[in-house]
Amino acid sequence: MDNSIKSVLEKQVQRTMDNLVKNNMMAFYVENKAQVVEKVAELIKEGELVAVGGSMTLFETGIIEHLRIGRYNFLDRYMDGLSRTQIEEIYRKSFFTDTYLTSTNAITEDGELYNVDGNGNRVAAMIYGPKSVIVVAGINKIVKNVDEAVERVRRVAAPANSIRLNKNTPCTKTGYCANCRTDDRICCTYTVFGQQREKNRIKVILVGESLGY
Ligand code: SF4
Repeated sequence: MDNSIKSVLEKQVQRTMDNLVKNNMMAFYVENKAQVVEKVAELIKEGELVAVGGSMTLFETGIIEHLRIGRYNFLDRYMDGLSRTQIEEIYRKSFFTDTYLTSTNAITEDGELYNVDGNGNRVAAMIYGPKSVIVVAGINKIVKNVDEAVERVRRVAAPANSIRLNKNTPCTKTGYCANCRTDDRICCTYTVFGQQREKNRIKVILVGESLGY
């Protein structure tokens, strides 16, 4: 990468991390996805009850695989053969976990997390319940402000998820949001995480790569 571009990106990452800390969240940076598991393992104690929100980033970085090694008490929503009822039970039990892991749809340079959910189980657990929340995100998720975060979800995250889940929505066909009223709509709850009351409950690991949607 060109050194000047690298310098711009480094400054953007630093600004974002500084503002996450000002908003009472912890912020870490790792160069690449190979280093994510090591950082996560530092933040979760052996035997902890853990659960995850729906996230491609957690698969891409090997976190899901790591949580299955037997070191933790993992409520695995992705386990083969689970019925819808059993998955929903895991969603509810997730509120009582020691650590909840997820990604985020966008991070603003002002240190905010922006997320749009269909079920709402992911944002609900991020907001309240788990003692600790670890957010893993590639630097492709950084945007200037909430307006850009909204646009990122409308133009990238939601259409990509809609395509992945094979939803019958306009964005599956066009690749951008038409603010649909279809039964398959995946955008139902919109959240902005600003300054947190419980200091350091949310820990953000920024990864110097493009990850997830
Ligand atoms: S509101 Fe509908 S069209 Fe817009 S991104 Fe969500 S699912 Fe797609």
